[in-house]
Amino acid sequence: MDDAIDHLTRLMAESENMVFFTGAGISTESGIPDFRSPGGFWEKNRPIDFSEFMASEEARKESWRRKFNMETVLSKAAPNDGHKVIASLYQMGKVSSVITQNIDGLHQVSGVDEKDVIEIHGNTTYAKCLDCHQRMSLEEVRSIFQVDETLPVCPACGGIVKTATISFGQAMPIEAMQRAEMEAINCDLFVVAGSSLVVYPAADIPVIARQHGAELVIINREETALDRFATLALNREIGETLTRCHKFVA
Ligand code: NAD
Ligand code: ZN
Repeated sequence: MDDAIDHLTRLMAESENMVFFTGAGISTESGIPDFRSPGGFWEKNRPIDFSEFMASEEARKESWRRKFNMETVLSKAAPNDGHKVIASLYQMGKVSSVITQNIDGLHQVSGVDEKDVIEIHGNTTYAKCLDCHQRMSLEEVRSIFQVDETLPVCPACGGIVKTATISFGQAMPIEAMQRAEMEAINCDLFVVAGSSLVVYPAADIPVIARQHGAELVIINREETALDRFATLALNREIGETLTRCHKFVA
């Protein structure tokens, strides 16, 4: 076992209240492109920010077109080794919650109870009315949109319907952010997996954990600005790293 794996294993074994914080990087091994790695989907598809979505019908149409294009990748994606190790540590009672910036729902599929996945950027596996928050399934939206690109409206109040994700420029979900901060304050080990830590306010959460005395571990292929504040920063692949540690934590 190499020193870094040994160190991470020890931190995990000693922890009584571990929290994971994940970003797009944990799902690349499931075939979902991340946001910033070169050559990615997002280089060609500039994100549509919230004000644009609200202001323009064409932007809303483009956003649904992309959504249904991405669906061919998303609907086939399954949890990978990284998700599975986290779920296993959760089921052992070592992990109290998973805070995620991801919108793909793969932590829930991997076996972390829905109530313990804190989604700070929402979820793309269903849609919601922006006014009354009524849920709408993607199948319902698709059946309306695919014929002649008619935009979906809320059956209850006539409001604008959008995937249940938080776009750039859209208000953060208050309850999820408060829960995430509480988890960061109360944990003794905070593990970041697959986030470039450049999207705010999400990237403040690991700082909060560190400031309240938690050990901070960052597992990310490339360096992040918070690596120097971390107890341990591993610029490695997530699936392999977590699998190697997990063998010894159990
Ligand atoms: P990001 O793309 O900014 O950063 C991902 C990081 O993960 C990169 O630094 C990359 O080097 C690293 N990485 C990629 N694959 C890895 C691997 N196998 N092992 C180790 N490291 C790996 O992502 P972010 O920080 O999550 O911010 C982007 C925003 O885009 C988020 O808010 C998220 O909501 C959204 N997003 C979500 C998904 C998803 O749900 N799967 C996908 C793309 C974007
Ligand atoms: Zn409504």
